[in-house]
Amino acid sequence: MTGDPGLAGLGLAGRRALVTGAGSDGIGRAAALALARAGARVAVHHLDQPEAAAALAERCGGVALQADFAVPGAAAALVRDAAVALGGLDILVGNAAMLLRKPLSETTEEEFARVQAVNLAAPFALAREAAALMRAGGAGGRIVLVSSVNQWMPNPGLVAYGTSKAATGGLVRQLALELAADGITVNAVAPGTILTDINRARHDDADWVATKLSLIPANRLGQPGDVAGAILFLASDLSAYVTGTTVTVDGGLSLMGS
Ligand code: NAD
Repeated sequence: MTGDPGLAGLGLAGRRALVTGAGSDGIGRAAALALARAGARVAVHHLDQPEAAAALAERCGGVALQADFAVPGAAAALVRDAAVALGGLDILVGNAAMLLRKPLSETTEEEFARVQAVNLAAPFALAREAAALMRAGGAGGRIVLVSSVNQWMPNPGLVAYGTSKAATGGLVRQLALELAADGITVNAVAPGTILTDINRARHDDADWVATKLSLIPANRLGQPGDVAGAILFLASDLSAYVTGTTVTVDGGLSLMGS
């Protein structure tokens, strides 16, 4: 994909990015396309979607790389592989996550630990490896993690997932503090309800859609591109002085009841 000259001000031309969880039709894919449109080359990580990831990587001037974040060491190895393929790394978008919808009474320690491994330990390892490469490169960098409004809004049946997302907010603040002097910013985006593969089974459920809409002041569900816009800003030169924060992208959902 040729970079859009209208997006030159973002400073993303020629930047090297890794986006995780981009093999599905969701926020990762939209973020990869947005970065490529702004001129970045993007390594596309996937779990088990080799064809979709390869096709996306071709559009984004990068490579497709597989990794299962439930496997210890896989996230760190992925960053190193991406940097070898791209010749370095300027931007990390840690987007992949697993959703476990189960009440507390039915959630086992193993399930809880698996969710923390994929949603929290993997982004930690991704960020640590990316930061080491960015420091060595000497030109700073951008780390953006995808959290959730569950970071602040608990939901019944999401004890493992909600805990992992709450911890993501803390991780971002810790990393931001440690990396600020190196010109590496670390931020998160917190999506509300976005129509993606993660909730695709419910897209045709009129009751689910109506309930969600009744909670969203903007009166529409979110699209992956809504979140990609915030990621693009946090990955760009425009956000050079923004670090340690979480940008909510939820159409006002989290304002309800406040
Ligand atoms: P999605 O299903 O398209 O993306 C999730 C990705 O994570 C998938 O590509 C999946 O393959 C990958 N993944 C899952 N388990 C993995 C593992 N073990 N190892 C490696 N990769 C794994 O859904 P999405 O909505 O685009 O989700 C992207 C991010 O947005 C996630 O962090 C999710 O928690 C967050 N989010 C989504 C919503 C929403 O309403 N869609 C709301 C809040 C937060």
